[in-house]
Amino acid sequence: MDMDDTTAVGLVERLTRSFGDLETRFHGAYWDAATYATHENEARSAELELGLRRAKGDPAALAQVEAELEAGGRDRILRRQLEVLRQSLLGNQMDDDLRSEIVALSNSITSDFASHRPQLGGTEVSDNDIQEVLERSDDEAERRRAWEASKEIGVVVAERVMKLAELRNSAAHAAGFSDYYSMSLALQELPQEELWARLTLLEELTREPYTTWKSALDDHLASRFGATELEPWHYADPFFQTVPSNGGVALDGHFAGLEAQHLAEVSFRRWGIDLAGVLAQSDLFPRAGKSQHAFCIQMDRKEDVRILANIVPGQRWVEVMLHESGHAAYDACIDPSLPYLLRRPAHTFVTEGMAIMSGRLARDPRWLVDVAAIQPGVISQIEEELHRTTRAASLLFARWGLVMVHFERALYQDPTADLDELWWQLVERFQLVRRPPDRRAPDWAAKVHIATVPVYYQNYLLGEMLATQLRTAIERDLDAHLVGAPAAGRWLDERLFAPGASLRWDDLVRSATGRELSPEDFAVSLTGSSLEGNGDRAVGSTRRSRETQGE
Ligand SMILES: [Zn+2]
Repeated sequence: MDMDDTTAVGLVERLTRSFGDLETRFHGAYWDAATYATHENEARSAELELGLRRAKGDPAALAQVEAELEAGGRDRILRRQLEVLRQSLLGNQMDDDLRSEIVALSNSITSDFASHRPQLGGTEVSDNDIQEVLERSDDEAERRRAWEASKEIGVVVAERVMKLAELRNSAAHAAGFSDYYSMSLALQELPQEELWARLTLLEELTREPYTTWKSALDDHLASRFGATELEPWHYADPFFQTVPSNGGVALDGHFAGLEAQHLAEVSFRRWGIDLAGVLAQSDLFPRAGKSQHAFCIQMDRKEDVRILANIVPGQRWVEVMLHESGHAAYDACIDPSLPYLLRRPAHTFVTEGMAIMSGRLARDPRWLVDVAAIQPGVISQIEEELHRTTRAASLLFARWGLVMVHFERALYQDPTADLDELWWQLVERFQLVRRPPDRRAPDWAAKVHIATVPVYYQNYLLGEMLATQLRTAIERDLDAHLVGAPAAGRWLDERLFAPGASLRWDDLVRSATGRELSPEDFAVSLTGSSLEGNGDRAVGSTRRSRETQGE
């Protein structure tokens, strides 16, 4: 260390101590609120979140960090810590009133999403009830009512979401950005032009296979419903983003006696990655007063990694547990000798990529035989159908994700634009789903991510691309199948997990896979010429936890 580094080292140590302590306490409260949703727990979690954001909003700390970065030089690890600190601090610079207003408005919308229950046929229904109708009902009028019910929440929150977008823009302007979208991408180290070049390529590569697949589906639905024009309620979920659980191969019967957490543990143990400790401190089964979602959280950036899940028998939760275990393995295997600020994944989309690759195993023929111990004869009969379903899931999710990323960019460019109109233009363009005649409603606002997990969706799309690129690279380097290969676990540990955030995501992807991140492997997997590594997004998986937002 030269003399110059002394102040920088002191600064990093001081801020690490302060933020690390606040973060660990916030994670504890966040976990408590997710597992026991009492009013006290929620209030405590919100209060600690505000406290953490306030601490990171310290303008003097930001000025010091920027001065140290401008001084140049520095050892690589020290410089990287300063960069990470700069993003954390910059994203939270705003006056105290604005910060409180944003947190309060965002929490009020979240709470409405959690409590809103539309009426259907005279009774209150949940998201699961609506999903059930859209998956199973042959009654068109009932389907239409269910779809319309799913959009009601949009009317309830739309004005507040627009207001929230304006407030977020104010914070971005104060930090010197043109809008919140640009700020968020900058803080996520995703240069806009590069990101959009990849998204445009993804759009081009998926257009033809999607059109072909969708047209076959439409023929099938038209004859099922005796309809000449298909409407959005003819599809199997409110946003047409996942393949219906009865639309592909039904594996539920084969998984019935197998516990999802056990299958996940075995999958990773065969790679030499021990998740027994993680699972022991996790909260895995449904219970009243507990979050219905799934996530993985790195509590203290040491040993304490936990999964929240709501496991019930069947394929869906097998897939979710594999996905969340992918996040957990990453968190648990980061080099513990790295400094606190770098003991985290290289990027949100990189850990999503790992999780998506793991979740896809639930439809992988080799995994179904080797790990889930389903009879090879059973799997060989449905192998083609497994691949078709996984390709369909990837295509569908990619085209849906394009709607979301285009919409969010436009939302922050002008929150007062005709968003209802814009939403349907994008849905028609990317998903090829027709707007119902005379439909005028804020249907965009019914998607919870737009309000509560802003500028996040690009991470799912990049994660889909990376998941396929990772698997392709592993199987090429090892000349072996991913499933059950201890060498694959070593590859992941050494090349992907261990460096934590000490490398920027682009350097990490290049050093791990030997090339730039690209949608090309993903596109090849959609053509049907490849029998390995076909995509399948983990249904119902979520962003991993709130602490990655707005940092
Ligand atoms: Zn995830």
